[in-house]
This record gives sequence, structure tokens and C-alpha cells, in this order.
Amino acid sequence: MQTAVIIVAAGRGTRAGGNGPPKQYWPLGGQSVLERTLGVFGGHPGIGPIVTVIHGQDRELYDQASSAFGDRLEQPVIGGTTRQDSVLAGLEAIGPAAPDAVLIHDAVRPFVTVEIIDRVVGALGSTDGALPAIRLADTLKRAEDGHVVETLKRDNLWCAQTPQGFRYDKICEAHEAARGNGQADFTDDAQVAEWHGLDVVVVEGAASNVKLTTAEDFAIAERHLSGGGGSAGGEWRAGHGSDTHRFEAGDHLMLCGVRVPHDKGLKGHSDADVGLHALTDALLGAIGDGDIGVHFPPSDPKWRGAASDVFLKDAAERIASRRGRIANVDVTLICEAPKIGPHRQAMREKIAKILDLGLDRVSVKATTTEGLGYTGRAEGIAAQASASVWLP
Ligand code: MG
Repeated sequence: MQTAVIIVAAGRGTRAGGNGPPKQYWPLGGQSVLERTLGVFGGHPGIGPIVTVIHGQDRELYDQASSAFGDRLEQPVIGGTTRQDSVLAGLEAIGPAAPDAVLIHDAVRPFVTVEIIDRVVGALGSTDGALPAIRLADTLKRAEDGHVVETLKRDNLWCAQTPQGFRYDKICEAHEAARGNGQADFTDDAQVAEWHGLDVVVVEGAASNVKLTTAEDFAIAERHLSGGGGSAGGEWRAGHGSDTHRFEAGDHLMLCGVRVPHDKGLKGHSDADVGLHALTDALLGAIGDGDIGVHFPPSDPKWRGAASDVFLKDAAERIASRRGRIANVDVTLICEAPKIGPHRQAMREKIAKILDLGLDRVSVKATTTEGLGYTGRAEGIAAQASASVWLP
């Protein structure tokens, strides 16, 4: 069964408050909402084509949000004045692909999962339409002028979510009939289907599959994504570290945990790994816990020739003991020689391994000082590092 996808992203999103772009283009944890949504559908191997319905003024915003997906997405189509018009534009756009089924999804539900998508698609084998929904958890009250007049039975009541899936030909008929009949106030596609007499079933949605509507929804989602969700709360910390070691006679250097052949060595009490020392200080700085010299005094013979992994690991453990989490680290090595480029990937991998971080959270960069200063005169190597840490 070929299942096309329509992402409805044409809304103006004024309810989320403030100025700026519509809420489907708001940043959320470093990505726009639409990019997150497209990521879930684009990453699902069993569905497509995927077409997004956008507002005529949003082409530039769409191009930014979709740039990572290349050929996986169809060209976007411009929506109409109502949600129904926009969905119809999407349905017409995917017509040439002659899909068996179509999923219609609100762009502002970025936390949809592959499991929800699969449940909706799975149900379409035996029915005209399916929508994910969750049972009402709260007791329902009907109030007039602020006074409760009735408590409603919540049995059989569900909160509808998206993606809503339909047999393609059936939902096209339903939407065209609604337009022909002047019906323009349906709030979702299941209601259009229902009005047209289609059989629509409910499948299990998820409480996390929220529609981001208000500024508060965004604040909650942002906290959730940053790992500080629930009642725990927390804050972001940044730390900076800097170190220098002088050259001495030798045949290699230790830089960011990697042995780099060179016609000099670095002088130091430990293995003189200037990169890992700067990074250790950045992590300690983020949690306000002294510096490398405090925890590993050079006067202590125990650390003579020590591999600097030990210092970095210790800083990471100090963060972990506070239930903190390292988000990213960034090291810059400053020297004229040796060339860092050929070793950069190995350095990133080494740091990622020591800190148990994903590679995309570890950066190693290098620069020269254009022949100026002590690094320019090749008297030694300097390093600077920064780190961001989430502390509950
Ligand atoms: Mg040092």
C-alpha cells in the first residue's frame, strides 16, 4: 500500500503569541518545529511521497526547515484560506502519485512517533480512515458564566490527534463534497470524513504527541527536550578552560588523548596533554569545582607521566555525581605545528569515548597565531576549551 503524507504547515499561528514567524517555524531545541516533524516522516522508510502545504509568504522559512531532507520531500504547495482548503491543495498535489492512502498531519505536532504512524497505517487495511487519540484523563465539566452546571460522562470520549489516515480516494471525495456543500468549518479531517459517512476508527495515540499551540506549550516542550523535564527543573552552565605547555626534546606529543608524532615533545608533569587539560578545566569551570591543579596537584608524584584521560574522566564524574549532563564540548588547539587536521577525527573519537558522548557533541579545532607570540615562535602549544553542562 502506497501511503502519501501531507504536512499541513500553512497556518499563521498567532495563538502562540508574540511576533516573528508562525509557530511551525519556531525553534525548539535547536531545530525548527517543522524540521522536527519532517524528520519523523522523512525518516520512515515505508511512507511517501511527502508534501508540505505552506503559506505563500513562508517559502524561505520552508526552504530552511527542509534543507536537510533533499529529494525525500516533494515540492511544497501553497495552501488556501482555511485548513480544509490547504488540505485539498495537498490532496490535489499528490494526485499524480496515485497513492492508496494518505496521512494528514499538523506540522505543529513534532513529537509524533513512528509507532503512531504505523498504527494509523496498519488500521487502513480494513477501514476508510483512522486517527490516533488518547482517552480523556481529566473529569469534564460544563460551566456557564464560570459556574459548573454539569459533570459530563467521559466514557467513550477521546482527544483526537494527527496523523489522521484515510484511503486516498475516499478522503478526496469527502473534502470535495464538503467544499461543494459550502462546509468550511471542520476542525480536522476525521470530521470531514465523518460528515461524509466514512468509517473512521480510533487507534492509540500518545500524550506526548501534543499540538504546540501556546507559548507555554513551547516552554514545556523546550524543558522536556533539554532533559530538565518534569518537576526537576535545572539550568544550563558554560565553562571555559585554557592551558599551555612548553616544547622540549622528544619524538611525539599527546594531544586530546591521541599520540601525534613530532620532532619535539611537550614538557609537563603528566603526559602534558594540553587539549585534555583545557577541556578538564572547562568542565570543572561549568560546575564551579576548582581546576585541574586543585584536584591533581603537580607536587604529587602520583601524577607523574599520568595519562590525562584520568583528569578528564574525573571531571566528568564530578558532573555525573551532581546528576549533571554534558551537552557539548569544544576544544581549540593553537600551534604552528604539528598539523592537527589528520588527527582531528581520532581526537574527537577519543574525547567522545572518555566522556561517553555522541561524536556530534565533540568538536576539536585548530588554529595558528600567524607566526606571532610563543606559539608562533614554536615555543609551545596552547589550548582553549569550552563546555556546556545541564545541571538539575
Ligand atoms: Mg596542563
